[in-house]
Amino acid sequence: APAVFTETEFYQRNFDPQGYLKDYYSMSTSREGGSAFMMQNLRSLHKMFSLDGLRGDILIDVGCGPTICQLLSACEHFQEIIALDYTDQNRRELEKWLKNEAGAFDWEPVVKYVCELEGDREKWAEKQEKLRKKVKQVLKCDVTKANPTGPVSLPPADCIVSSLCLESACKDLAAFRSALRNISTLLKPGGHLVMVTALGDTYYTINKQVFSCLCLQKHEVEEAVAAAGFEVKCSEAQPYAVKDDRMDLTGVLGLVARRCPSAS
Ligand code: SAH
Repeated sequence: APAVFTETEFYQRNFDPQGYLKDYYSMSTSREGGSAFMMQNLRSLHKMFSLDGLRGDILIDVGCGPTICQLLSACEHFQEIIALDYTDQNRRELEKWLKNEAGAFDWEPVVKYVCELEGDREKWAEKQEKLRKKVKQVLKCDVTKANPTGPVSLPPADCIVSSLCLESACKDLAAFRSALRNISTLLKPGGHLVMVTALGDTYYTINKQVFSCLCLQKHEVEEAVAAAGFEVKCSEAQPYAVKDDRMDLTGVLGLVARRCPSAS
């Protein structure tokens, strides 16, 4: 049965960053499907950030959670990164890794995998340092607000990356459409949006705690992106066939769109 919608405040109270990292971002796991979900997303991000035009000064990560995987390919193409998330404990967990603090999640196997995709596994330590230097701010945001960063105004970005956030934050397709409009205000006209979106998924769990997910189809995401003032450049759905007790996902969409140059 579809989960009851989990409100933004529910994330603040119940999202366990370390549980999430352990359940979804460990390379070594005995779970059926193992790290297939993560590796599929990493390959999709690698491919999207290799496209022409995906470079510039400022990249904003919307709904970063406690994770860096959505930044590993991206960090090669942008000078400065700003990471945004609603939940305090997720931003704190990310900061822990950025500052190399004791108890931070070990991303090393994941970084090595992405370096391998990029052609040189040996560059992992260098990439970690590069990413740590490039993330300049980790700030609170709420994608359901017209001005997602509240009183803080950020320099307009050349690119937004958002992985698995809007489908968690939005109750229905109307909310999803308006969240896309909201985050598009963070982007320069002509700037790019890179999204990883769960398809056909109604819930996911962290340590048995259930979170709702907006069940989306490929064409719904594409139409919502276009309606928010973007031109879809590339949209590729990968089926997810693994029997997985963490969620009921049927596929993952990798989408790149460009904010129309005339958008205001
Ligand atoms: N991008 C990460 C985390 C996805 S989990 C990854 O790819 O794994 C979903 C994230 O969305 C959580 O970190 C949660 O705090 C965030 N989130 C939920 N509602 C939000 C909202 N209204 N505004 C901003 N972020 C939100």
